[in-house]
Amino acid sequence: MRRGLSKLSAFGIVALVATAGYFIGHQNGLRGSSWLLDEAEASGAGQVATGWSPTGVYPDHEVYFPGTEELGPDEMRVIACGSGMPMPRLKQAAACFLIELGNGEKFIFDVGTGSFTTLYALGMPLDYMTKIVLSHQHADHMGDLPTLWIYGMQNGRSKPLDIWGPGGGGMPETWGTQAAMDGILQFYNWMLETSKGGLDTRSLGMNVHEFDWSIPNNVIYDEDGVVIRTIPAIHLEGSVSFILEWKGMKIAFSGDTLANRWWTEAAKGADLAIHECFLPNEYFVSKYKFQPAEAIYVSTLVHTTAPVFGKIMALTEPKHAVAYHFQNDPETLPAVVTEVRKVYDGPVDFAVDGMVWNVTKEGVRTRVAMLNSQPFPPPSVVARQQEAAGGEKYETPEWILQGYEWETLQLMDQIHEDFNEQFGSDFQFPLRPADD
Ligand SMILES: [Zn+2]
Ligand SMILES: [Zn+2]
Repeated sequence: MRRGLSKLSAFGIVALVATAGYFIGHQNGLRGSSWLLDEAEASGAGQVATGWSPTGVYPDHEVYFPGTEELGPDEMRVIACGSGMPMPRLKQAAACFLIELGNGEKFIFDVGTGSFTTLYALGMPLDYMTKIVLSHQHADHMGDLPTLWIYGMQNGRSKPLDIWGPGGGGMPETWGTQAAMDGILQFYNWMLETSKGGLDTRSLGMNVHEFDWSIPNNVIYDEDGVVIRTIPAIHLEGSVSFILEWKGMKIAFSGDTLANRWWTEAAKGADLAIHECFLPNEYFVSKYKFQPAEAIYVSTLVHTTAPVFGKIMALTEPKHAVAYHFQNDPETLPAVVTEVRKVYDGPVDFAVDGMVWNVTKEGVRTRVAMLNSQPFPPPSVVARQQEAAGGEKYETPEWILQGYEWETLQLMDQIHEDFNEQFGSDFQFPLRPADD
């Protein structure tokens, strides 16, 4: 049982025993006192909760405060760091789910545009967030990968990234994940060259594990009891869904796909089944300003629209379902829920960013995280290292340095003196006028 529930259950049992004992002792004399015999009293209400204090740590929360909860050895925690769409918005980044396992392993399933900000808001050392698994190469599923990768050196990451992504399966080689990652290196060529020697650049390594997207149940990761396999997604081509299994538990993540028989088979009975669920197709005309032909194409031939999500979950029968990939607003949610509930009556959450699921064999607990909107970098958990100064180090051309405003030279020398006093160092501002 999830920890919150077990506490409640244990408390409930104690309360029931106490109440029953009270009744046995008083049933003749007090039968007429209705306030003692109402349903609330019989269920334990009115008992004093234990573990709570006006000055101490609360024993339980309705919300998740990142970094304050130890993960059990047989527990998984999944955090939605992007639940939205390609249309950028402050409250919902595009697709990204952080999977944390009780053995310390962490995986990021997709890293869509805007999602790095949410991952970063968790305050977790970036050295723990190096395993990225990509369902396909739409920007709403990998658009923040270049940012997450390049910002490692400024944000305490000292480890390279491992990136799993689709390729092969009849696609041109230039469409594969390796080619895309090579493109990121080229995109940031100037930044990479001019950073040499200034910061810890070990985080700029990239180990790309391209897999054949077309093979059903293709095992792409198998370490320390964690197995991740892919099934083809029906979403253009080169797209997959993931099934992660660990300690007899199963998390399924659809990426983007139409109703898919590989999915209903592989995800059947999953502990947590995260699947795309688009807004009903009329919203593509009214909200997104698509032409009707575009709207019906996108929502029925490329994606899973809300009523179909409900049907897929009815077929999948997960212990807990999660609908994502739509703008979850007070205005839109009722339409989605209505469509889904016509065909699926099982447990389901309609994802927002920061939604958290603790998964154990006993069940799934849903909360929403309190995210830090003004984080500073968490530290590296491996020794930081500055790339060796010397031959490799980048130097700014002398002529542009000679444009320095020499009126600030005295101030800069003072700043160095103060800094050296504070940190016990011996740095000198190196710039001097050429004719000095
Ligand atoms: Zn897509
Ligand atoms: Zn998508």
